[in-house]
Amino acid sequence: MAHDENGIGTTCVQGGYVPGNGDPRQVPIVQSTTFKYDTSNAMGRLFDLEDTGYFYTRLQNPTNDAVAAKIAQLEGGTAGMLTSSGQAANFFACFNIAEAGSHIVASSAIYGGTFNLLAHTMAKMGVQTTFVSPLCSDEELEAAFRPNTKAVFGETIANPALAVLDIERFARAAHAHGVPLIVDNTFPTPVNCRPIEWGADIVTHSTTKYMDGHAVHVGGAIVDSGNFDWMAHADKFPGLTTPDESYHGIVYAQKFGNAGAFITKATSQLMRDFGSIQSPQNAFYLNMGLESLHVRMPRHCSNGQAAAEFLSGHPKVAGVRYPGLPGDPYHELAEKYLPNGSCGVVSFDVAGGRAAAERFMSALRICNIETHVADSHTCCLHPASSTHRQMTDDELVAAGISPSMVRLSCGLEDADDIIADLDQALATL
Ligand SMILES: *Cc1c(COP(=O)(O)O)cnc(C)c1O
Repeated sequence: MAHDENGIGTTCVQGGYVPGNGDPRQVPIVQSTTFKYDTSNAMGRLFDLEDTGYFYTRLQNPTNDAVAAKIAQLEGGTAGMLTSSGQAANFFACFNIAEAGSHIVASSAIYGGTFNLLAHTMAKMGVQTTFVSPLCSDEELEAAFRPNTKAVFGETIANPALAVLDIERFARAAHAHGVPLIVDNTFPTPVNCRPIEWGADIVTHSTTKYMDGHAVHVGGAIVDSGNFDWMAHADKFPGLTTPDESYHGIVYAQKFGNAGAFITKATSQLMRDFGSIQSPQNAFYLNMGLESLHVRMPRHCSNGQAAAEFLSGHPKVAGVRYPGLPGDPYHELAEKYLPNGSCGVVSFDVAGGRAAAERFMSALRICNIETHVADSHTCCLHPASSTHRQMTDDELVAAGISPSMVRLSCGLEDADDIIADLDQALATL
């Protein structure tokens, strides 16, 4: 399914919310915990999922729903939901179909927080994960599956390793084993890649990054393609295909079909019980970011490309990783999946190792040291001593991170100024 009949820019600006006569033009912030009803029976039908409507903002809120619908349209999915963070989105996406005794196959090149979630926290909950290199052979990928595997997980462009996932290949392997492919599409955003068009079943986002784009909110989103046939693999996904006793015996896949089952279950069970909602105020900020996403992404990409080209020719830089560079191990995959550009994030190694990397960073003026990526301000980070510091050296290598790697996130400033700043900081070494 295409995002809709409009171009992606029109959907960025107008998707998800159609004001009626005399309604507010901008998506209103419905800053209300609760909603009023005339009869208990009318409200009861909402609790039974017999009618759609609002009763409590932990479950659903009109502001959040409008913004989730826009993101679902942008990704070409059938349903979407917002979460309090990208971490919550990835946890919900996995835990909605995996439970104690289940198993997940994941790319090893993923965000450090998601690695911890899968390798440690979900393992404590009884969900085991086998990690495979995004460049593993078909045989290695095949060997990672077990009879209790419930999903395959990867990132379109891994943060910070910048590995590009071969979505079609991972989707084929997942589907051959009767399980969905979950793709975290945070870095490219639907402006640069729509994983569903390549076979992904569930798409997740940290909306904290480019979708917000201005570093004002932490949030996440989940989109369902509506393509995965849960009933065809009913024995693997009892949570979707057998009665939910906490909802009067509803069978999600029967009542809501492939288009709605996944998100309805994630909302009515996981959001009900874990409560990781995005506030309506934050959903409003997210929507402001989405309105210019299609205008901002090309600038992030051209600044990233310019910085990567400058760094790759510099004698004090030991290596540069950017999918837009010819010769990058993921360049061919980027040409296939990201023909209009990848993202503004460039990873590189400063010659002279860890100490030189830290000295270089403290000499930067425009590029700020921040635990962030993907907003309007250029920033940089040393993953080995920050986001990925829990990892062993072996785990770092598997995630595509070296001790001297610097992650540079190119913002929306002038490329010449970003390059001049990198140049003067390298000159201090
Ligand atoms: C930042 C990030 C996350 C986590 O998102 P939060 O909003 O920080 O919880 C997950 N995946 C990717 C690819 C990210 O970059």
